[in-house]
Amino acid sequence: MTKFLGPIAGFGVTFSTMFKKSNTEFYPEEKVPTAARYHGRHQLNRYADGLEKCIGCELCAWACPADAIYVEGADNTDEERFSPGERYGQVYQINYLRCIGCGLCIEACPTRALTMTNEYEMADDNRAGLIYEKDRLLAPLESGMVASPHPMAPGTTAEDYYRGTVTGGAAAAAQDESEVEDTAGDRP
Ligand code: SF4
Ligand code: SF4
Repeated sequence: MTKFLGPIAGFGVTFSTMFKKSNTEFYPEEKVPTAARYHGRHQLNRYADGLEKCIGCELCAWACPADAIYVEGADNTDEERFSPGERYGQVYQINYLRCIGCGLCIEACPTRALTMTNEYEMADDNRAGLIYEKDRLLAPLESGMVASPHPMAPGTTAEDYYRGTVTGGAAAAAQDESEVEDTAGDRP
């Protein structure tokens, strides 16, 4: 009896689906917004003055189950500072041929340097084009930010940055200081 009803139940699914409203998406002509927490392209974030949050610790690379992340850290110097504290991510690559969008890397990041955006248009016609480096992962410069390298905001320490107390005002001061240094460098 069960053997006899099986095919009928199967056709029942087909029959009921025939009367449902079709859900056709017209991508790429019409782009449907993603869910707010969609796991799209990664982003390497900056502090309010433009210094980079990544400290090159490689925890994201170790957490990645697909071995999609490659990081090389390096030391900041007084002359060339990319992030507060000792280290920064000198080389940062994500291979989107491997990434499965699981988000474990962003959970592992101790400074919230790494987050994911809603951007999903990452197709390409060659493998190398899908290995994203810092030039495509770093967050764009917002108002009050200066591209690294530059000094930390005057009177602040790395801990101030980690605690989030370096705000727009301190960022503007850092900007002024770096401009003064640039001008001083131009003097004979
Ligand atoms: S989202 Fe998952 S697979 Fe992709 S880089 Fe992060 S940890 Fe690796
Ligand atoms: S993105 Fe975060 S976890 Fe990855 S190297 Fe940079 S600081 Fe470390």
